[in-house]
Amino acid sequence: MPTCKILISAQLDNVTNLQTPGDDYQYSIKTKCNGCHEVSEKWQVVSGDEETDLPGSRGKANFVTKCKMCKKVNNLDVCLSTKKMYTADDTPGFSEIITFECRGLSVVDFRFGDGWKCIGVDSGVEFANLDLSQEWYEYDEEANCPVSISDLKYKIV
Ligand SMILES: [Zn+2]
Repeated sequence: MPTCKILISAQLDNVTNLQTPGDDYQYSIKTKCNGCHEVSEKWQVVSGDEETDLPGSRGKANFVTKCKMCKKVNNLDVCLSTKKMYTADDTPGFSEIITFECRGLSVVDFRFGDGWKCIGVDSGVEFANLDLSQEWYEYDEEANCPVSISDLKYKIV
């Protein structure tokens, strides 16, 4: 089964275990039709918690899309079992956070959105609902230190 993996890299200051919160997290991606190479114009939202019927079969997938150009119906699944955290030990390298199983399409773009969470390295305090569309700065009251996530990058393989 062809897969597309999302790898991220970030500078974590005094935080670790950066991750998307739950199985219902909505990943924001753009896909390309493998048949005609048309890339979706709009951001597409996919979640491992949602299922759509596949036309003409009894199967289901987390995301089904019809190519605007060639009209082919393609689909993908979010492999929740591959969901991983990005930890302080992973910095500053790239590490995989999620894999998509792709049928007829490829994931070509990814957007960090909001809803991410992490914990303070020393305090263990959870910081939730982080908006990673920009750099994030906060103060960890328990550990008495500034915390931040910056230099966010991603790679799709
Ligand atoms: Zn197409």
